[in-house]
Amino acid sequence: MRSFETALHLVYLAAATCFVLGLHMMNSPASARRGNLLSAGGMAAAVLAALVAVVRHGAGTGVGAVVLVAGLAVGGLGGLYAARSVQMTAMPQLVSLFNAVGGGAAALLAINDALHAGSHGLGRSIAVAVGLDVIIGSVTFTGSLVAAGKLQGIVPGKPIVFPGSRVVNAVLVATFLTGAGLLVADQSNRLALAMLALAALAFGVTMVLPIGGADMPVVISLLNAFTGTAVAMAGFVIGNTVLIIAGALVGASGGILTKLMADAMNRSIMNIIVGGFGTGDGGPATVVAGGVQVREVAVDDVAIQLAYASKVIIVPGYGLAAAQAQHEVAELAQLLERRGIEVSYGIHPVAGRMPGHMNVLLAEANVPYPLLKEMEEINPEFGRTDVALVVGANDVTNPAARRSGTAISGMPILDVDHAKSVIVIKRSMGHGYAGIDNELYTAPNTGMFFADAKAGLAGLTAAVKTLVG
Ligand code: NDP
Repeated sequence: MRSFETALHLVYLAAATCFVLGLHMMNSPASARRGNLLSAGGMAAAVLAALVAVVRHGAGTGVGAVVLVAGLAVGGLGGLYAARSVQMTAMPQLVSLFNAVGGGAAALLAINDALHAGSHGLGRSIAVAVGLDVIIGSVTFTGSLVAAGKLQGIVPGKPIVFPGSRVVNAVLVATFLTGAGLLVADQSNRLALAMLALAALAFGVTMVLPIGGADMPVVISLLNAFTGTAVAMAGFVIGNTVLIIAGALVGASGGILTKLMADAMNRSIMNIIVGGFGTGDGGPATVVAGGVQVREVAVDDVAIQLAYASKVIIVPGYGLAAAQAQHEVAELAQLLERRGIEVSYGIHPVAGRMPGHMNVLLAEANVPYPLLKEMEEINPEFGRTDVALVVGANDVTNPAARRSGTAISGMPILDVDHAKSVIVIKRSMGHGYAGIDNELYTAPNTGMFFADAKAGLAGLTAAVKTLVG
């Protein structure tokens, strides 16, 4: 028996080591894929070891075994299908649903433990962990469902604020804290458990509803950190070290990512949670902004500008992903590079619909990683750039962010307007995620090349080839 427990802990230790090493390998695109595999391998070993332990303890027999196998089959196959079939553009929704499942599972685990604690109770310290687990897990569950709904367009992306919402939030927080306090005092108090779970579930909804679409990336990252924390708490509740380590890693890395993203948008996390930002309705914009007509350019004009430039910066955005035009943009860039033109890519931290979206997309087209420049690095270069080629990016280039009173005020942007010439490839004057007009489009040095990104880039490559022979 003792040797089995030792072996089990050794497997858990090995799994935790895989998580840490895997996470470290994700620091570089060259080793990220292997890091992912290593972490997944660690998780598979931990799940297998936990299953063997459950069977040995007799819980995995009879009805328990059927439930276990059914749970594994439904969860495993569902996850596999979702991961394989999801479009890259719908990845944030999927991540949000995974957060919901993680948070919900952690909360259920704690509730189950509390309900089956028996006459001796949970013990004070475990009751504290149960309380925190149920609060964080439940908030994450409903909050993530609402966030996924907003991203998918099932729930309106606009901040939804109702009169007295702050009072309702305060009451809900007071209710779940009181419930947790009562549970710690008397661990057989089921009313306290129900009170705390229901108030936390309701708070998840009321917390995320007033947050606007443009802030969703930060919110999803925050909920991801919550999921990790809830899982770590669940680890304390059932005394499982691998859950504690995995949860702590997710909680810490999610927390760091949240901070980095909030900094990239020049927002504090508190400000995001408390105040709505961005309308996210993305409807059609007026073609004429402030009485200024935009300048439309034809494919041949753009081809001439590109072919005779000495420095070009490509700025990809969500539209590049939506059009799946990564191969076309890479082909055009290579063609220009072969002509001796200096080409690089300006990557905004929240371009696209998930952190690292543009990096993943361009890596798929084998764009050399050193050509991808982060915002701080590329911004000083726009001033000595002949052509900034904006492909399906909108909000991340909008100079309106530099003044107050707009939905994206304060968000650092890519300074594409500092380039000698700006070419924007998009299909129409449609808004970006924040749902506001882009002042870049009416600037005198901007030419609008209205096209689907994939077709437009292919047309441009052909036109440059024809031009230079
Ligand atoms: P935007 O959402 O601001 O703009 C994308 C533009 O792409 C649209 O204006 C659209 O214009 C154009 N587009 C759509 N389809 C195509 C197509 N097939 N071909 C060419 N163009 C197309 O994207 P950005 O990347 O500039 O900014 C990202 C926004 O998303 C930010 O507001 C960010 O906060 C938010 N966000 C970011 C997340 C992240 O983690 N990165 C997650 C969730 C939201 P048109 O219809 O005229 O073609």
